[in-house]
Amino acid sequence: MGQITDTGQDAILQAACDFAREALKDDHSGHDWWHAERVAETARAIARAEGADEFICILAAILHDLADEKVAGDEEAGLAMVRAWLDRQGLAEPTAGRGAGHILEIISTMSFRGGNRPPMRTLEGRVVQDADRLDAMGAIGIARTFAYGGAHGRPLHDPDAAPRGAMTETEYRQARSTGINHFHEKLLKLRGLMNTETAKKMAQGRHRFMEEFLARFHDEWAGRK
Ligand code: FE
Repeated sequence: MGQITDTGQDAILQAACDFAREALKDDHSGHDWWHAERVAETARAIARAEGADEFICILAAILHDLADEKVAGDEEAGLAMVRAWLDRQGLAEPTAGRGAGHILEIISTMSFRGGNRPPMRTLEGRVVQDADRLDAMGAIGIARTFAYGGAHGRPLHDPDAAPRGAMTETEYRQARSTGINHFHEKLLKLRGLMNTETAKKMAQGRHRFMEEFLARFHDEWAGRK
């Protein structure tokens, strides 16, 4: 993580990378450290284009999955751990939306959870949410879908299992699905959920690539190609 010129901020971002790398090192569900790193780089690019606070966006992106129940086991415990870490960095004092409260608000409200969440309140929140959603699309999104499926014993595809329609958060999290159905239940919806104009543009190519992948997958499955 370079190019943040404030040395105090740069030190905090470096410490955040170390903290997140350690916390995410055993994750094989697609939420590993490199996911956080990619989201941070994408958030940086979107923040720049949209005029958002880069430091807040990058820091929230690095930490964004540490409170996720898929990673922390329990969201409250994860948030408490992140809050304690932020306090140790001297970010406890809220200075015009640049304190720990803003970071915690972003990471506690940005998860997909079946698509049932209210919109993000701040521009920085919208930027980080877009960056996280972009990482679920395109070539990386395809790779992550099947990595997650492997970690959870999901089949690649089952022609007899139709994609599920609208779901509650619990249904989204608990019911069994397939890798291919995950595209219809979540990934192909993400293009329409982007907040910022910059992310909407980035989402176009990633969306098209997933559609091409699915068409080819079904052609090969049926022996047509
Ligand atoms: Fe994430």
